[in-house]
This record gives sequence, C-alpha cells and structure tokens, in this order.
Amino acid sequence: CNTDNISEFIENLLQKLLVTYNINGNLMKVSYNIGATAMENINDSTANVIRKCDLALIRAKEKGLNEYEIFKPSLEVQTLKEGIIERELRHGLDLNEFVVFYQPIINLKNNQICGFEALLRWHYLKSVFVSPLEFIPVAEKCGLIVELGNIVLEQSLKVAKLLSRYINDEFIISINISPRQFSDREFIRSTIQILENEELENVKLQFEITEKLAVENIDYTIEVINQLRKYNITFALDDFGVDYSSLNYLRRLPIQAMKIDKSFIQDIEKDETYFIVETIIKLCKKLGLNVVAEGVETEEHYRAVKELGCDYVQGYFISRPLAVEEMIEFIEKYKSQN
Ligand code: C2E
Ligand code: CA
Ligand code: CA
Repeated sequence: CNTDNISEFIENLLQKLLVTYNINGNLMKVSYNIGATAMENINDSTANVIRKCDLALIRAKEKGLNEYEIFKPSLEVQTLKEGIIERELRHGLDLNEFVVFYQPIINLKNNQICGFEALLRWHYLKSVFVSPLEFIPVAEKCGLIVELGNIVLEQSLKVAKLLSRYINDEFIISINISPRQFSDREFIRSTIQILENEELENVKLQFEITEKLAVENIDYTIEVINQLRKYNITFALDDFGVDYSSLNYLRRLPIQAMKIDKSFIQDIEKDETYFIVETIIKLCKKLGLNVVAEGVETEEHYRAVKELGCDYVQGYFISRPLAVEEMIEFIEKYKSQN
C-alpha cells in the first residue's frame, strides 16, 4: 500500500460519505476528516500506526472540512491538543523522542562562551517538534516531568562532558527545573546520583528556578537549594520581571544568578523598560548576583545590555538553541571569530 493508493481510496470513501441525508424533512450533511498512514514497516506497532494517523488527522482538521492527510515525517501541525499530549507523553518517553537542545550563553566581559542552557524538545513521531511551552505544563500536571527532568539532566551532563573537549575554560550547564520536579521527594537524591555518575571537570551545574517555587513554600525551597549548594550546584532565578518580582524572595533565596526575562530585553528601546532593566542590573550587582539577559535578538539589544553592565547574554543574536552536533560546529566557528 503506498501513498497514491491511499489517496485514491480516501477520495473514493469521501465521495461515498459526503451525501445529503433527509432526516424528518431536514436535509443534513455530515463533514469528515481523515488521517491515514502507510504501513512502512511491517514491525510498526499498532500503537505507532494509530499515533501517525492521529497526527495526520490533526493536520487534516487544520486544513478544513472534508480534508484528509496522509502521514509523512515532514508533516507540520500548528499545535498538538492537550488530550493527545497527555496520552502521548509516555509513548514519547518509551520511544526516546525527547532530545535536549543547547543555547550558548556569552560572557560580555571577554566575549567567550561561558555556558549553555539545556532546552528540552519533543520530536513527536520523529516528525514534529512540539514546543516545551505546550508539553511541559501537561507533563507537570501528570507528573511525568520528574522522569523528563532526569532525562534532561542525564543527557545534558553527558553532552557537557563532550563539549568540554571543545571549551578550555570552566563553563556552566544550566537546566530548567519545574516546581513539581523541585518539590519531588526524590529530587535531591536523584540529582546527586546522576551527578556522581558523570565525572565532570570543568563543568558547573546550574539550576534555573522560577519564583513560583518560592511562593509555594519558601522555607522548603531555601532548604533544597542549600542542600544542593553543597554539591557545587548554583541557582539562577529565571524569567525575572514577569511574575511577582518580589524583593522579599530576592532577599531570601540563596541564588547566584538572575535571568532577566526576554520580554524586557525585547522592549528595551523604550525608556521605561531601559530604566527598569538598569535598576534590576544595579540591584543584582549589589546583591552579588550574576545577571543574564535573555532573548537578545538584535545588535541593539546586545549593545544596550552591555552598556548597562549586564554580565551574560543569551538569545538568537548569538545563536538559537541547537542540537549537540550543531553546537560543536557553532563552538568551533565562534572560537575562530572571537
Ligand atoms: P525559558 O527557560 O525562559 O527558556 C528560554 C526560551 O526562550 C526558550 O524557549 C528559548 O528557545 C527561547 N529563546 C532563546 N533566545 C530567544 C530569543 O532571542 N528570542 C526569543 N523570542 N526566544 C528566545 P523554548 O526552548 O521554547 O522553551 C520554553 C520554555 O519551556 C522555557 O522557557 C522553559 O520554561 C521550558 N523548558 C524548556 N526546557 C525545559 C526543561 O528541560 N525542563 C523544564 N522544566 N522546563 C523547560
Ligand atoms: Ca530558563
Ligand atoms: Ca527564561
């Protein structure tokens, strides 16, 4: 069975289905969408065939009424629905569909690469990249974030070891930790275990947390941070500026770095925003925190945050998040130019 045969079959089927019904004198039409796939591999599991049909069906619905789609690896859909995500996360884990991308962080003092943020990607059916903004909240809700978090940590530390062959100085690998993961009872133990499995020499592990954690239970948050600080793990407060931006948390949390949210950087040409960013940077310096500007997309953004004495930058202006192989290429190229 090939794609042409399937198309012919579906078109015939739709023709038969698209008739007008007369129900008690009311003329009615039913509309259809069809998602299909060719069995490329006889060993493909039933579950996988259904997943492919489902993905094709989503695309068919996006195209409009009475449309059909046949699965192909390059299929692009706008969004996966929450129900599908929840059902599919576990399959994704079983089939190793999760990969970590890395985005470089640059030290503005010497222009050198000083770290990478690990950003999780779901390569659904090895076909569509689902944004973490869509699946992380679902994974949080159903608890799978704990397992995913461990995968990110394991993969990132392995990759850090590889990248350390290309970078001479000490660098940071920065990992996002969601509230559910952080408050999991096993969090400290599994982190230490994963860390002990990798002998890292010039790599420093950093965890990025948000204020949401502190709101839930500040004392517990402080306790966990202090425990992990003993293992040389540093902490950055992520997305600063968007949520509570509480000075109280800033005062109490034993963090080492602050990441200014990209919405501020992207609006930095406006005077008010510029002054706010200036003040955040000054405040952080006084508190002895390293400041990272996120979402630096243009030369203007870059210049502005440099002028304000920001320590580190991260954003599309330097590089998008990249797969490991691409990152190695990026490092080589960056080193030769700087
Ligand atoms: P985040 O931690 O704030 O990560 C930064 C996001 O900004 C990333 O989106 C990154 O690709 C994007 N970004 C980087 N530079 C630029 C830029 O110059 N302009 C713009 N517009 N965007 C830029 P991404 O990878 O889609 O991740 C979205 C969010 O998903 C992350 O936001 C983080 O909250 C969450 N996330 C990603 N990976 C993980 C993970 O492994 N664990 C957890 N718990 N959350 C994760
Ligand atoms: Ca982050
Ligand atoms: Ca952020």
